[in-house]
Amino acid sequence: MRKVSLVDFHCHLDLYPDHETAINRRENAKTYTLSVTTTPQAWPQNRNLTTGKCYVRAALGLHPQVVAERASEISLWKEYLPETRYVGEVGLDGSPDHKDSLELQKDIFADILKTCAKEGNKVLSVHSVRAVKDVLDLVEANLPVDRGSVVLHWFTGGKKQLQRAIEMNCYFSFNADMLETARGKEVVSVVPLERILTETDAPFTKLPDIECAVELIARVRKLPETEVYEAIKENLKTLLL
Ligand code: MN
Repeated sequence: MRKVSLVDFHCHLDLYPDHETAINRRENAKTYTLSVTTTPQAWPQNRNLTTGKCYVRAALGLHPQVVAERASEISLWKEYLPETRYVGEVGLDGSPDHKDSLELQKDIFADILKTCAKEGNKVLSVHSVRAVKDVLDLVEANLPVDRGSVVLHWFTGGKKQLQRAIEMNCYFSFNADMLETARGKEVVSVVPLERILTETDAPFTKLPDIECAVELIARVRKLPETEVYEAIKENLKTLLL
């Protein structure tokens, strides 16, 4: 029997057909959940539906994949930032479909990081697909370690950038889909146990299942699952101190 609550530090509950029901399910299951958003326009509804919840938090996002069309919403993002400690989904996407806007994405992400540094104490869920080096460069330049915390969501970078991200005090959230790949297994074998979190990235994953993610982490790390559950809960506590 599982004794500790699950942690889903990156999912998109506002993309479910019934947003409110999705939040209430997580709340009733006592799953510590960070529900990220893609546009600041979605913030008021996310804020309102999560107010007073014990387990579900909403994060204020401006997703790199929508920056090409929505860069001007950065002013709205800044307006809402004082209302929350949680920021995401933000970051960079250098994959073929979004490469054309990469320079604009960098400007927006740098602005987001600077604004977070100014306010302080923010926790960011960061997307870094095919842009890990740029993400780390911008974080290093704009968000001092004592001004905010970065959780790299679905990290797929190589060894060198992984080592660098670890040295920069980043956390990593792992989902079951990525843990089924060779790269995902390699990343989770290297990241210190005290920097590991779980996520589902639902509804975008085939296996939006935290217990499955924990099982895969435990297998790679050769640890009992109970130890992994405890570590993740401890890590969440430390991150949010
Ligand atoms: Mn996502």
